[in-house]
Amino acid sequence: MENNKLIIGNMKMNLTLKEVKEYIKQIEPDKNFYVCPPSIYLSYFNDSGYNTGIQNVSEFDMGAYTGEISAIQAVSMGVDLVIIGHSERRMYLHETDEIINNKVKKSLLSGMDVILCVGETLEEKEQNNTKDKLNKQLIEDLKNLDKEDIKYVIVAYEPIWAIGTGKIPTNEEISDISNFIKQVVNNMYGLEPKVLYGGSINDTNIEELNNIDSIDGFLIGGACLKPDKFKKIIETVDKK
Ligand code: PEP
Repeated sequence: MENNKLIIGNMKMNLTLKEVKEYIKQIEPDKNFYVCPPSIYLSYFNDSGYNTGIQNVSEFDMGAYTGEISAIQAVSMGVDLVIIGHSERRMYLHETDEIINNKVKKSLLSGMDVILCVGETLEEKEQNNTKDKLNKQLIEDLKNLDKEDIKYVIVAYEPIWAIGTGKIPTNEEISDISNFIKQVVNNMYGLEPKVLYGGSINDTNIEELNNIDSIDGFLIGGACLKPDKFKKIIETVDKK
């Protein structure tokens, strides 16, 4: 890797098969970035040489759970990492911290790296409750792990008010929160996790965001769907 920063594209529930085939033609796989496509398309990306992640896994191992995909199954498909606790799943699919903690444990046990998403609402930010919220999420979502597991946990700071809105925190705010997250996990396990920032990153603001030294990478939603924009983001991060 030319840079040490992780770049992860979360495609969410987007793209048809035709669009996936087009996408693969337009952006070369590279060890510097990961894509997390809808799981039905994973083999297209894996077979084309991309590093891949999955957007969710079941909190259960295997068996009669219609529609679910287990961590063990994801690993058997060549998936390297999993996004857990995304605010959309917390809000729309009612995932609790307990469910998220179960998913974190199953994923680590199966050998995947975990991208744990945490973040505050606009209301929580305005009431100065950001750190309380993050502290609670980290303590509950990462409880009862082994110290060694923390090497495979990456925390993505994704303020809910910044996702898909075009609004982003200042570099100072992101840096302060990143250090806070590292400190909370260090207090729990004696190890600091990597921390990513995610929320309204695009091919223009990435240059400024890339100056934040305490950030270990970026989680990108909307902008990863456009190969030209995603490529520009990757190149900007690589250049540093
Ligand atoms: C996300 O939902 O993880 C995300 C970062 O979205 P966007 O980049 O579109 O704000």
